[in-house]
Amino acid sequence: MLTYIVLLGPPGAGKGTQSKVLASELDVPHISSGDIFRDNIKNGTPLGKLAEAYISKGELVPDDLTIAMLRERFLQPDCKNGAILDGFPRTPVQADELEVLLNSFGGHVNLVLFITSPVNILIERLAGRWTCRAQGHIYHECFNPPKERGICDIDGSALFQRDDDKAETVLNRIEIYQTQTAPLIQYYDERGVLVRIDGDTSIKKVTEQLMSGLKC
Ligand code: ADP
Ligand code: ADP
Repeated sequence: MLTYIVLLGPPGAGKGTQSKVLASELDVPHISSGDIFRDNIKNGTPLGKLAEAYISKGELVPDDLTIAMLRERFLQPDCKNGAILDGFPRTPVQADELEVLLNSFGGHVNLVLFITSPVNILIERLAGRWTCRAQGHIYHECFNPPKERGICDIDGSALFQRDDDKAETVLNRIEIYQTQTAPLIQYYDERGVLVRIDGDTSIKKVTEQLMSGLKC
């Protein structure tokens, strides 16, 4: 069966952290639009140069650029049986396009796991987030620290703090989430695929809720 699962929620909700667990559990790829943008920026591609101007301000990259990038990702054979989508879609236009894209090879969005947490918790999480340079593994200086400071436990690469996790950019990102992305809660609720997950608990307990959500 084709299984496409969207992780929806504000910045800092735990989408990236949990997507990695789910992707490994279900043996499907983890597709993170943020990671693909960051790779493009790192490699200095034309898309990376365009996207950086938006990302550094905490704004969304325009729908046409984002959709084209995801369409290209879906051309790769590894996502033909399913995927965990993290950070995409982020607008109703992207959600409509995703449905068209998945329908073109017989799939659709099966489940949307919507993770929420209070704003003060999101800010605390983003302020302490450390990301691995090589593969985007995610740590927190207090809530999920690496064994050795500044080094990824999994691949040994250096950890860095994202520029867009600065306090002033974070507030803008949360506001943009509320105006541009939160309408997707109703969008997917109306389609009967939304499951609400309490993100304001430990990483392990959120994973347990997600695993129960998979049975819905
Ligand atoms: P998102 O992808 O939704 O922006 P991340 O998965 O990157 O969120 O998590 C943001 C930060 O919060 C990271 O530093 C991560 O280690 C931490 N984190 C994620 N989930 C939890 C949790 N349930 N409790 C405490 N910290 C968490
Ligand atoms: P987080 O999980 O912390 O919100 P992401 O890594 O998903 O961050 O995204 C980082 C930034 O990349 C976003 O603030 C936005 O500028 C851009 N971005 C990622 N995904 C999308 C998307 N689907 N549409 C538009 N912009 C996006």
